[in-house]
Amino acid sequence: MTLPDISAEANLTLFGKILRKEIPANIVYEDDLCLAFRDITPQAPTHILIIPKKHIPNLADATPEDHALLGHLLIKTKEIAASEGLTNGYRTVINTGEDGGQTVYHLHIHLLGGRSLSWPPG
Ligand code: AMP
Repeated sequence: MTLPDISAEANLTLFGKILRKEIPANIVYEDDLCLAFRDITPQAPTHILIIPKKHIPNLADATPEDHALLGHLLIKTKEIAASEGLTNGYRTVINTGEDGGQTVYHLHIHLLGGRSLSWPPG
């Protein structure tokens, strides 16, 4: 897997600015491929966003080339959930596009936990 260039494209979004450390975030994990930080408007006691460093606007724009990267994001998500002590379960959400309620067009996984979450979503 080639390492992403976060110098230009990713800068187009708010999360690109967080990746470039141009705006602050409460970072909980970082490696060569991804960054995880606490959501600024948490919807649960634990609410973390896991994003790829590669700029992929949303899941609909992912390609077969992103196969390993998407797997990496999910494995890191479950490791972060464990490190946050979410032993009783948690929810992962990927909002895609307008109907999906996406507001930031840089692919991200929401990790929500620390309380019982209802279903279905609104
Ligand atoms: P979505 O609506 O799925 O695109 O999710 C975007 C998320 O980004 C929302 O849950 C926001 O609360 C969160 N958010 C927006 N700005 C920031 C920020 N500066 N730092 C952390 N989270 C943010």
